[in-house]
Amino acid sequence: MKVFKFGGASIKDAAAVKNVASILERYRSESLVVVVSAMGKTTNALEAVVAAHAKQNGQAQGLIEALKDQHYGLMQELFDAGDEVFATVNDTFVEADWVLEEKPSDNYDYMYDQIVCVGELVSSKIVTAYLNKIGLRTHWLDARDVVATDNTYREGWVNWEKTKPNALKTVQPLLDQGGFVLTQGFIGSTSENFTTTLGREGSDYSAAIFSFCLDSESMTIWKDVPGVLNADPRLFENTIKLDRLSYREAIEMTYYGAQVIHPKTIKPLQNKSIPLFVKSFLNPEAPGTEISSDTEDTYPPIIVVEKNQTLLHIITNDYSFVAEQHIARLFADLAALRIFVNMMQNTAISFSICVPNVPERIEKFIKGISDEFRVKREDGLELITVRHYNEDTVNNLKKGMIVLFEERIRNTLQMVVKNVPAIERRAVELERAKG
Ligand code: ADP
Ligand code: ASP
Ligand code: MG
Repeated sequence: MKVFKFGGASIKDAAAVKNVASILERYRSESLVVVVSAMGKTTNALEAVVAAHAKQNGQAQGLIEALKDQHYGLMQELFDAGDEVFATVNDTFVEADWVLEEKPSDNYDYMYDQIVCVGELVSSKIVTAYLNKIGLRTHWLDARDVVATDNTYREGWVNWEKTKPNALKTVQPLLDQGGFVLTQGFIGSTSENFTTTLGREGSDYSAAIFSFCLDSESMTIWKDVPGVLNADPRLFENTIKLDRLSYREAIEMTYYGAQVIHPKTIKPLQNKSIPLFVKSFLNPEAPGTEISSDTEDTYPPIIVVEKNQTLLHIITNDYSFVAEQHIARLFADLAALRIFVNMMQNTAISFSICVPNVPERIEKFIKGISDEFRVKREDGLELITVRHYNEDTVNNLKKGMIVLFEERIRNTLQMVVKNVPAIERRAVELERAKG
């Protein structure tokens, strides 16, 4: 069997859903597990619902009604008025309505997961119904019956020992009946049957979980780009498609923040040598990118830009040296607040870290260490990582930027920069490395 994953962009409207169906049509006779995300920007919209509910500002209901209308509008283009899918989708939205009728929970992350999961539940119901309507037999599967997690809401940790047997028990019999199995990305369930989510953009990871547990022959993620490129095409003009990537290279890229694949996706596939294809849903015949094996090829410079970074310069209150016990304390606090350190540097009297700007967490961190440390904070920075760099590329990248700090380790260069003129798209020579 094979696993396919279709992200939000691939099912953003009725025409997009029809396009996905036309891709699946070609695989009619194959044993396929199809994982889908919420439609378009639904997850962002649901996050706004959760925030409004938490604030009790009276806007939550209106926001969810708008989202319902959007889904019903799309469904009217795909189904006849009397189709039972309208009732099915309505029932799912009603579950979110129940949560909104209650007082907001003190546990924001728990409440978030109970509401945000609706995006994937409804998208999967709509796509399943459409495939069945056009004669592609498809079984709907609740991913929460398979993906078992702990209760770290919004970032559920997968319990593989439970998930593996669940997958075999629930998915295999459906595949044996013939037809596709279609399920949700992004969501799982605790041992008490509360819904969890796996972290934003987590549907790629869900597909990898199914691939791993079912020993799939390959996994394909269908994107709005021709494959994995050597930089984000939204930021760079002359990107190159990478035909092949090793697992190792893909892990490095996604770890540094390349948004094209969720960082947790590759490892389970690598462990079982399952190839990952990244293909375009706009041009399904094109070969895309194959991520497999660990033999390193020569790569062109690969650039990853992470925006919205903050630099914290930390100095002891008594101007003493920043020593090991200080660093141990700082990291304990960072870990407790789940602040991820992207880069660090220490001098005799200061310790600097570059972290994603999550204001609530950073403020808590600064306050929490104020008994021992003073912090100078600089927001609005970018972290640029270049794998397989050459001097030309690096010099071009630096044009117009103020480099605050830079580090080179073997073939990886990282720099924290201030993008002063706010260059949106960059024309940097992204040539293939010679050699
Ligand atoms: P999905 O719909 O599956 O969630 P995403 O929007 O998360 O898809 O990912 C696809 C987007 O990732 C592309 O539209 C592209 O702008 C962006 N992207 C960032 N870095 C890269 C890269 N190195 N190669 C290809 N796409 C990239
Ligand atoms: N719908 C979720 C999100 O937007 C998961 C995903 O799309 O991968 O984050
Ligand atoms: Mg995505």
